[in-house]
Amino acid sequence: MNVSEFRKRGKEMVDYMANYLEGIEGRQVYPDVEPGYLRPLIPPTAPQEPDTYEDIISDIEKIIMPGVTHWHSPYFFAYFPTASSYPAMLADMLCGAIGCIGFSWAASPACTELETVMMDWLGKMLELPEAFLAGKSGEGGGVIQGSASEATLVALLAARTKVTRQLQADSPELTQAAIMEKLVAYSSDQAHSSVERAALIGGVKLKAIPSDGNFAMRASALQETLERDKAAGLIPFFVVATLGTTTCCSFDNLLEVGPICNKGNLWLHIDAAYAGSAFICPEFRHLLNGVEFADSFNFNPHKWLLVNFDCSAMWVKKRTDLTGAFKLDPLYLKHSHESSGLITDYRHWQLPLGRRFRSLKMWFVFRIYGVKGLQAHIRKHVRLAHEFESLVLQDPRFEICAEVILGLVCFRLKGSNKLNEALLQRIGSAKKIHLVPCHLRDKFVLRFAICSRTVELAHVQLAWEHIRELASDLLRAEKE
Ligand SMILES: *Cc1c(COP(=O)(O)O)cnc(C)c1O
Repeated sequence: MNVSEFRKRGKEMVDYMANYLEGIEGRQVYPDVEPGYLRPLIPPTAPQEPDTYEDIISDIEKIIMPGVTHWHSPYFFAYFPTASSYPAMLADMLCGAIGCIGFSWAASPACTELETVMMDWLGKMLELPEAFLAGKSGEGGGVIQGSASEATLVALLAARTKVTRQLQADSPELTQAAIMEKLVAYSSDQAHSSVERAALIGGVKLKAIPSDGNFAMRASALQETLERDKAAGLIPFFVVATLGTTTCCSFDNLLEVGPICNKGNLWLHIDAAYAGSAFICPEFRHLLNGVEFADSFNFNPHKWLLVNFDCSAMWVKKRTDLTGAFKLDPLYLKHSHESSGLITDYRHWQLPLGRRFRSLKMWFVFRIYGVKGLQAHIRKHVRLAHEFESLVLQDPRFEICAEVILGLVCFRLKGSNKLNEALLQRIGSAKKIHLVPCHLRDKFVLRFAICSRTVELAHVQLAWEHIRELASDLLRAEKE
């Protein structure tokens, strides 16, 4: 493809993207295909001779779209939102064109410097404590990770290195293996599975702290487990607090958990993957109170802040906790500005070497929307969640299963788990809307998450009417 064809096809592609998103409501939100649907539709090997661009484009509607789950449909209410906006998509195109690999400052200075400044902008939007900001000479700072899972893993590995070095400094005879065996990480029983995965990869034990009646981790339960473990000769070193759990958007009690971590010299990592975006609104900022106790804090602008995947924002109070744990400097990666305090080499803050110019997406989105536009987006979603909640409460056959704080509503038919599984089954086969369930204790619960950027009250009302009809059919069938 030469440049003149690229110009032509690029403009056509933007039109295709705009048409797709403009008409997305007309597409069935969840596809009809069965596993393995795609392989028979395309050749078993790559073509020896070039295909034409027209052939590829005509295959999009024939082969790809029939197997797409339309995450940006206003009838998509599953999981949590994944962000999407036009300025983010445009920035992503530019990122592709620059195509740099920003592992060090010298590898592309703008890539590193814009990221540091964007993370400060975003940190200020959230009113993060000064200690987390890079500023001109701060000890903290932000980095864009690929996902919240990666951020948790990076924090856990850094904490593991830090505690190991401290223990070895005190008792040089201790081997790393002897320490590793005893290290224990903690999170609430409502934490995301990525926390368990981080512990698995990091080779340390993880203990689930029983959450309270509001699905929150509290001081008493954490304290009790810590004391029992210390008495048994184990070494507690890492706690993950979740703000906005994936199951029901509950909040661990940071003001209780934070001081315990600080006193016990435990690294506190906060996972606010979904809820973090809401903290840019003054009325939700109190949910972040206690962040000052944390060593690291993470949330996903790629979930709820209109920055397309991937963009997971992570801050640390002490950048040396990361760079001290992950730094290796082969000669081919060294550069001549090394000694300057102004230099950030983000490869020391993350697992991979390579990294994309993701901060362009933040820069475009923050400037095109402004903080006010972003706040309006969050507020609209929270408002719609409360609208849905009040619709559910008007129908005595249903119950709300957890407090609605942000954009997620957990609800169910009063009755057995089997009944609710059957309802979800009917919703799934009708394919008019897309939802996923969760377990809250022993209850099977339906999750209704406000997701699409373009979802309006009318969509929510239609979705609720649809759920009610399916419930009526189900209850009638049960009686017969
Ligand atoms: C979505 C979610 C995650 C996982 O996010 P990734 O960026 O996909 O790794 C982790 N924790 C919580 C609380 C989440 O809601």
